[in-house]
Amino acid sequence: VEDPRRPKLAGWGNEGDGLPADGRETLLRTLRAAFPDAPLRRAEPPRRVELPAPRVDSPHGLVEILRADPRERAVHALGKGYPDLVRAFRGEFPHAPDHVAYPADEADVARLLDWAAAERVAIVPFGGGSSVVGGVEPDVGDGYRAAVSLDLARLGRVLEVDEVSRAARVQAGTRGPSLERQLAAHGLTFRHYPQSFEHSTVGGWIATRSGGHFATGRTHVDEFVEGLRVVTARGPVETRRLPASGAGPDANRLFCGSEGALGVIVDAWLRVQKRPERRAAAAAAFPTFLAGAEGVRRIVQAGLQPAACRLLDPVEALTSGSGDGSAAVLVLGFEASGFDPAPLLADALGLAGGSRLEREAGGRWREAFLRLPYVYEEIVAHGLLTGTFETAVTWSRFPSLHGDVSRTLADAAPDAIVSCRLAYAYPDGPAPYYTVVAPARAGAELEQWRDLKAAASEALLAGGGTITHHHAVGREHRSWYEREAPPLVLDALRAAKRELDPAGVLNPGVLL
Ligand SMILES: Cc1cc2nc3c(=O)[nH]c(=O)nc-3n(C[C@H](O)[C@H](O)[C@H](O)COP(=O)(O)OP(=O)(O)OC[C@H]3O[C@@H](n4cnc5c(N)ncnc54)[C@H](O)[C@@H]3O)c2cc1C
Repeated sequence: VEDPRRPKLAGWGNEGDGLPADGRETLLRTLRAAFPDAPLRRAEPPRRVELPAPRVDSPHGLVEILRADPRERAVHALGKGYPDLVRAFRGEFPHAPDHVAYPADEADVARLLDWAAAERVAIVPFGGGSSVVGGVEPDVGDGYRAAVSLDLARLGRVLEVDEVSRAARVQAGTRGPSLERQLAAHGLTFRHYPQSFEHSTVGGWIATRSGGHFATGRTHVDEFVEGLRVVTARGPVETRRLPASGAGPDANRLFCGSEGALGVIVDAWLRVQKRPERRAAAAAAFPTFLAGAEGVRRIVQAGLQPAACRLLDPVEALTSGSGDGSAAVLVLGFEASGFDPAPLLADALGLAGGSRLEREAGGRWREAFLRLPYVYEEIVAHGLLTGTFETAVTWSRFPSLHGDVSRTLADAAPDAIVSCRLAYAYPDGPAPYYTVVAPARAGAELEQWRDLKAAASEALLAGGGTITHHHAVGREHRSWYEREAPPLVLDALRAAKRELDPAGVLNPGVLL
């Protein structure tokens, strides 16, 4: 609510935001060249929204924090994945919440949960709404009288800073840019940059175990969570602030990745850092993607932890402006405070092999990376299908998984442009990330997407990978997650949900 601009009904970010005109023209030229038979007419977002009246009235004590105007409900009806954008451009909001709640504090959250449990109303926590797995769509089934989207936008402040321990207590609804602005006042930074950074929140990151820009080492946000405060349907849970602990299973980890199904994260103590003073970056080319992957494996298995370590296949190198399409490109970057990272970079380049490219390749790739959400919006608006599929797999299984997934995507979408990058890398395996752009079948986009998603997901699981490295489970990945997670672990998670959410009103249908 801090930002007076309205979020778009269809697309990324706020009204008025998007690619600059010259960027749009360049993109359109590229798309025309790649898909000469596609009509590529830009769809306009819907002008008006009509929704059925809310199924329940605002209860007396909550009137001040509930809103029910149709536009507000529509903005909270969908996330930002391909099927979300397609439906938003069509003006279809089939599971729009009956109300949107904007709690001003933890007490409001608790009162809302009490009412929801008593009245059998589903509560769907909403951070930035950037979920690509149906996590914020109130598709909760028929067992509920109504659904309320609980938007944490009013909880957007850094509450305390412990400069000695380098930690900050941050409210869950704080978005990326606001977090960095508030921490900068203390000379600190969080340095967690998912591609959705601009419009995603601390609570959403923790609830989905998001992946930031660190490509090796501490990649997931979990590593930066020192303590948590969560409002459950049974009352608040506060974990102790500790640098580490060996006392039983980690309480923070119960809520990292809980996707709103166990409680509402209201604030968290986060491990923050001093802004790094020095950087060293370079790029190297490899004749094939797999040769580059071997180079990455040597770097991470030697114990080096570059902040940037992104291997782009030739197609991705071309489309991101980092290469000419003839070779795979590895973008490497080290950050440091108090010492010179250049020798680490030299060691990493030496271990990786390949041939050194001119320096700014990394810079060009980064700019393109942060612009991509607006690029996706344009691609979908112009009637093309675009989707990403991501996983993590051990190095020993990676070559065959990569071959199988690439073949599956090529078979399922013969006219598509398919590209891959290694988004993250660990000593025991990489996290490959596949992007598909294809002509969409007008009117049947959702069916086309569902078939492609199913084919890709089956290939990921069959190849020994996870259904997701950092996009969470939500509603979309649930059937594959149920096959990936051990059955008794799922039973234990169901028991935890019964204990913390006895009425089952917290984001029903995600995760479990
Ligand atoms: C273009 C694009 C790029 C992306 N890039 C990345 C990336 O680089 N790395 C990455 O990890 N992800 C990425 N994502 C996915 C998404 O941005 C992440 O999952 C992100 O962490 C979601 O944050 P959010 O605040 O938008 O949460 P939302 O989308 O609002 O919510 C996500 C889930 O968390 C729950 N939730 C939200 N807030 C809370 C809370 N306070 N308490 C309890 N539950 C809560 C919701 O109910 C929902 O289930 C991308 C998405 C898009 C559209």
